[in-house]
Amino acid sequence: MRVLITGAAGFLGSHLCERLLQEGHSVIGMDNFVTGSPDNLAHLTNNPRFEFIRHDVSNFIFVPGKVDAVMHFASPASPNPASPFGYVNLPIQTMKAGALGTHNTLGVARAQNARYLLASTSEIYGDPEEHPQKETYWGHCDPTGIRSVYDEAKRFAEALTTAYHRYHGIDTRIVRIFNTYGPRMRQDDGRVVPNFIQQALRGEPLTIYGEGKQTRSFCFVSDLIEGIYRLLLSDEHMPVNIGNPSELSILEFARTINEIIGNKAGITHMPTLRVQHDPEMRQPDITRAKEILKWNPEVSLDEGIRKTVPYFQRKMGLA
Ligand code: NAD
Ligand code: UDP
Repeated sequence: MRVLITGAAGFLGSHLCERLLQEGHSVIGMDNFVTGSPDNLAHLTNNPRFEFIRHDVSNFIFVPGKVDAVMHFASPASPNPASPFGYVNLPIQTMKAGALGTHNTLGVARAQNARYLLASTSEIYGDPEEHPQKETYWGHCDPTGIRSVYDEAKRFAEALTTAYHRYHGIDTRIVRIFNTYGPRMRQDDGRVVPNFIQQALRGEPLTIYGEGKQTRSFCFVSDLIEGIYRLLLSDEHMPVNIGNPSELSILEFARTINEIIGNKAGITHMPTLRVQHDPEMRQPDITRAKEILKWNPEVSLDEGIRKTVPYFQRKMGLA
């Protein structure tokens, strides 16, 4: 297949490009570098099956030649308002990437009769009142809350993707991605994994926003990419959760990071940095992914963090 991947210069997009090339496909990466970096693609630029187009997906997309699949991953993804790269500080771009970007990429899929995969998110469940979250749960979102620029754009994107499937018969897929981490995460986008690992490597206390009782379930990037690749090859049109169901509190997560890295500086609580509607708990129900895709995450948190630390050491000039 010749596959268009938007958000290619980002964390997940770059791993996806790599995986598709490894599988023998050709890849057209598209990105405007708003939160991503050309460094994430530097190792692919000499591959004759890789092309790159610098473009904002909110504008009409033209791709020369045949496209067999479109994977729409372009969007800021960090909720942290303390970072200029968090979606709270890129609100209009975030809504446009989710709304206009989804419309434009669906337009490419329709014109090309290509299959389509939308990167959606656990954030469409909002601050969930059902736990763990199944795909049948409708969510608990505030349409004008601080996170709404992301949540509502992704909810619109899911609705539009489903409308293109029902009305135009486009061969669509929707993956609801839960917290994923690994090499090539942006150092300064304020997500908890880069923050904690870098604080621990500097020997500083880890900054917990609030008491740290809120929970998350972290998936290593290779597991996520495997699930997404299986979904791309499947015929499933309704949303599928992909994530690691091992849930822990942010306090437990901080202690785990300090233990793995050997940081003696402990933790510090920063209640004022906790974002409005920060979900109290998040854990994917992956029954559908197991049944439909025969997929199960394989990398433990300990193993995944140990695979991620050397990347941040290099980025920080420590290795
Ligand atoms: P990222 O910020 O590393 O990558 C996003 C990429 O999209 C960046 O390279 C950015 O420059 C690009 N981009 C943003 N707006 C664009 C636009 N208008 N035109 C062209 N390119 C644009 O984030 P990520 O973690 O790799 O997330 C990728 C996708 O996965 C996003 O759609 C995000 O919503 C989704 N997702 C990620 C996670 C996660 O845990 N990493 C969880 C849920 C959903
Ligand atoms: N968080 C934290 N300290 C940080 C960054 C984040 O305690 O330095 C918390 C944040 O409030 C949230 C959780 O960690 O409860 C996960 O945050 P992240 O930004 O990674 O993404 P989210 O899961 O909220 O989308």
